[in-house]
Amino acid sequence: MSRLAVLGGEPVRKKLFPAYCVIGEEEKRAVSHVLDSGILSRYLGCWHDDFYGGPEVQAFEKEWALYFGVKHAIAVNSCTSGLQCAVGATGISPGDEVIVSPYTMVASATTPLWYGGIPVFADIEKEYFCLDPESVRAQITPHTKVIIVVDIFGQPYDVEAINAIASEHNLIVIEDCAQAPGSKYRGKYAGTLGDIGVFSLNYHKHIHTGEGGVVVTNDDRLAERVRLIRNHAEAVVEDKGEIDLVNMLGGNFRLTELQAAIGREQLKKLDTLLIQRVANCEYLIEELSKLQGIRSSPVRQGATHAYYVQPFLFDEKIVGISRDVFINAVKAELPATALRELEGQQIGVGYSKPLYLLPLFQKRTAIGSHGFPFTLGSDSVSYAKGLCPVAESLYEKQLFTHEFMRPPATKSDLDDVVKAFNKVYEARHELI
Ligand SMILES: *Cc1c(COP(=O)(O)O)cnc(C)c1O
Repeated sequence: MSRLAVLGGEPVRKKLFPAYCVIGEEEKRAVSHVLDSGILSRYLGCWHDDFYGGPEVQAFEKEWALYFGVKHAIAVNSCTSGLQCAVGATGISPGDEVIVSPYTMVASATTPLWYGGIPVFADIEKEYFCLDPESVRAQITPHTKVIIVVDIFGQPYDVEAINAIASEHNLIVIEDCAQAPGSKYRGKYAGTLGDIGVFSLNYHKHIHTGEGGVVVTNDDRLAERVRLIRNHAEAVVEDKGEIDLVNMLGGNFRLTELQAAIGREQLKKLDTLLIQRVANCEYLIEELSKLQGIRSSPVRQGATHAYYVQPFLFDEKIVGISRDVFINAVKAELPATALRELEGQQIGVGYSKPLYLLPLFQKRTAIGSHGFPFTLGSDSVSYAKGLCPVAESLYEKQLFTHEFMRPPATKSDLDDVVKAFNKVYEARHELI
């Protein structure tokens, strides 16, 4: 066995992994078509036929709704802005509480703050990493209005348990499915499992338009409120005859015709891209699970996984060294990915620091300097270390994730990943 790269030996592989690029000729043609038309966006921010956007946006929305089997799809310029529209559409007021996950991209937990909502963190499941229903239940108060669930890493949340809690307490469920396009729970697509779903089309995601997002819902009223917030609601309500003015302070969250044209082509590729990703992940599960102390997180009964990233659980007691030392040594054996050399190797530890530990929550400073909206919340809302022990333990020592499975990775690329893991595993005692 050759010397570990982290100790000065030859790495398993030097040649960059193939670039992850899902944009091709189809997207180029679609964009040219829009450029030739001269209309790169076609929204009017007043009550008019063009309030709902141009032909590409509207066609994209129709196709998205059809694919996901949902009544309304509303294109927006990011998942973050889509979440903001969704939270606003629920009609929450300053001081209302929104139950969120600590283990996700920041926007899924911070968007309530724009409306004065108070994020209340519940812990996550040990095996699946989505919101834990029991912890959610424990966080409900008379002020709770919304739960923002996250289909983290690509698999759906505990639909039955969380939806039951929501209907029992009359709460709206917003599903952040940015990482899970195409995954399903009992035959229904992620995004359509709660009351409103929000997808991301930023360039890290399975399919993308550079930046972008889509909000989906079967609820006519929520859909219309999302459309209003997307496009300067305040300037539109009077002529439209809207009477409910709650949160009808809008933004410009509009996707352009160019992006919508790209999105239409991207949607056609989702199935194929997903099949390759899942097959690659299954291969790595089989190979890496041979190493005692390393195991893949399971897929929930009744669900499929879209593997935005692939999560593994690391048991330092069994392996004999810490996760961080181990993964650092694996990194040294492997190269970066073409086009993204500066991002380094596509493997990392911990995922995200539990979000309540961010300065925003620790200092309770979000909007202005007087503690708004936290001062409106109850004193019992905590952001203290120790609040969500499962998320903290995953972050500190148990979880690692990688993205080596992204198309067009081949079996031979994956075999280099497996070789790197095996090499480090066999020589791990040299790292103590
Ligand atoms: C990427 C991501 C977002 C944000 O998406 P944008 O389109 O960049 O705003 C939100 N939530 C989750 C879980 C994500 O992975």
